[in-house]
Amino acid sequence: MSRILLKSAAVAFASVAISLLLTLIVVPSLGFPIGRTVWLTSTLCPLMLAWAASAGTVWQGERLQNAHRELARAHAQLAAAHRRLSEKASRDDMTGMLNRETFFAALDGSRRKSDRGALLIIDADHFKKINDNFGHLTGDEALLLIAGAIERGIRSGDVLGRIGGEEFGAFLVGATEVEAKHVAERIRREVELIRFRPVDERTVPLTVSIGGITCTESATVSELMRAADRRLYEAKHRGRNVSILDRDISEAA
Ligand code: GH3
Ligand code: MG
Ligand code: MG
Repeated sequence: MSRILLKSAAVAFASVAISLLLTLIVVPSLGFPIGRTVWLTSTLCPLMLAWAASAGTVWQGERLQNAHRELARAHAQLAAAHRRLSEKASRDDMTGMLNRETFFAALDGSRRKSDRGALLIIDADHFKKINDNFGHLTGDEALLLIAGAIERGIRSGDVLGRIGGEEFGAFLVGATEVEAKHVAERIRREVELIRFRPVDERTVPLTVSIGGITCTESATVSELMRAADRRLYEAKHRGRNVSILDRDISEAA
């Protein structure tokens, strides 16, 4: 309030000064004397009119500025809520990894930027048995342990997603075949090392099979998926708890 009064007072006094200056120039040039009435009208009129008018204008301006600030704050809150929502929509609720759609979108984006990298598909072995033997909730616990082990196995900057119930996808950004084999083996071992004890001191083994492929320049995402899937199938066929990334596997597999 005091700011409005001060601002409008400044305008009012400036108006009085200009009014007096004009009076001093115009009235004598018209041949009239500057009497008391002239002094009073040239001072009081601008003082009262300009003060009231500028107070109104300044008040409106302040209100507008406040509304602007409120709007900017609401906009920032909305943008943050939108960010949180789309982040949540892109994640798998259980593991916190990217969900299937977002994983493939990220993979597609990564492929557009670079031809290098490798795709791994990681599938929990005989997982149905875990559910059948210990129940679905214990199965969930085992799945979370496997997800944690996979996260420990990949490198920072790699893209990880849950692409099916007990199936995960990892895109190893920029990896060569040797590096990809190394990461796949690290993941496999991390899972193998889990000490899962759902009922007593007895450890129930958890393992994964991994199929993977390194990117070629022209390969599309679905071609990479098919190739990795074939190698995963071969890994299951060879007895599970293995990783296969070789280029030359039987295409009939
Ligand atoms: P394989 O080694 O051939 O992959 O055998 P598998 O038993 O893992 O494969 P299968 O496809 O026969 O069964 C997958 C099982 O994974 C069945 C399904 O109920 C279980 N599963 C998938 N998603 C979840 C989940 O979120 N929680 C639990 N507890 N189980 C899940
Ligand atoms: Mg499985
Ligand atoms: Mg599966």
